[in-house]
Amino acid sequence: MKRQKKIFYVLIPVIFIYGFIGVIDVYKSTREKMVNTQIRARGIENRIVIESMLKVPRHLFVPKNRISEAYHDRPVPIGYGQTISQPFIVAYMTEVIEPEKCIKVLEIGTGSGYQAAILAEIVDSVFTIEIITELYNEAKKRLHELGYKNIKVKNANGYWGWNEHAPFDAIVVTAAAEFVPPPLIEQLKDGGKMVIPVGSPFLVQTLMLIEKKGGKIYSKSLMPVRFVPFVRGK
Ligand code: SAH
Repeated sequence: MKRQKKIFYVLIPVIFIYGFIGVIDVYKSTREKMVNTQIRARGIENRIVIESMLKVPRHLFVPKNRISEAYHDRPVPIGYGQTISQPFIVAYMTEVIEPEKCIKVLEIGTGSGYQAAILAEIVDSVFTIEIITELYNEAKKRLHELGYKNIKVKNANGYWGWNEHAPFDAIVVTAAAEFVPPPLIEQLKDGGKMVIPVGSPFLVQTLMLIEKKGGKIYSKSLMPVRFVPFVRGK
């Protein structure tokens, strides 16, 4: 009886630890699969972007009842009518701004905080703005719990950017705007890049790359995309 008890005390923690490691490993290999089939296979080659996508635990950025969808090849609803972008789009937008050259990046549309975390693995500081207070609170808490000390989150209308921290080496806008907000162009550093979906809300938009060079603005269409609308007002 005593011996049985001893085995019980040893065995249970061992089973727990194995189970725990097992869970971690499941997501690690799921992430590897996501990166190989959705990201590398579609031409994303930047090593630091790939490493960041392999590292950030995407399943912790979706609602608990949607964890099984976290690594699927599509956006996932995060509540309040918003979505966490498809993994490929996150990787693509990150690669396009050449994050290895960036120190300070501004993101408009924090949502779950996933894109901010992907950027924060690469650049020195990330400033991210979310207009929906509930999502702002959730993302702020999540990013804090995950230990990201180089991300600042603000609850405001991103149309106005974040003037006190400007200029930014890059700006990533993750909601579809009908035009590029002029304050964001102003807050972009000379030589900086902005990636932004432009077009009518609820329709297909164009992902644009905006570059500032010698005070001039250059824009280039990258691909058709579908984003949630950029909210005006406030
Ligand atoms: N980048 C997010 C997904 C973005 S979904 C992620 O990784 O999860 C787009 C987000 O932009 C939504 O959360 C929406 O509320 C926010 N948004 C829309 N218009 C905005 C505005 N004017 N200012 C700030 N955030 C805005």
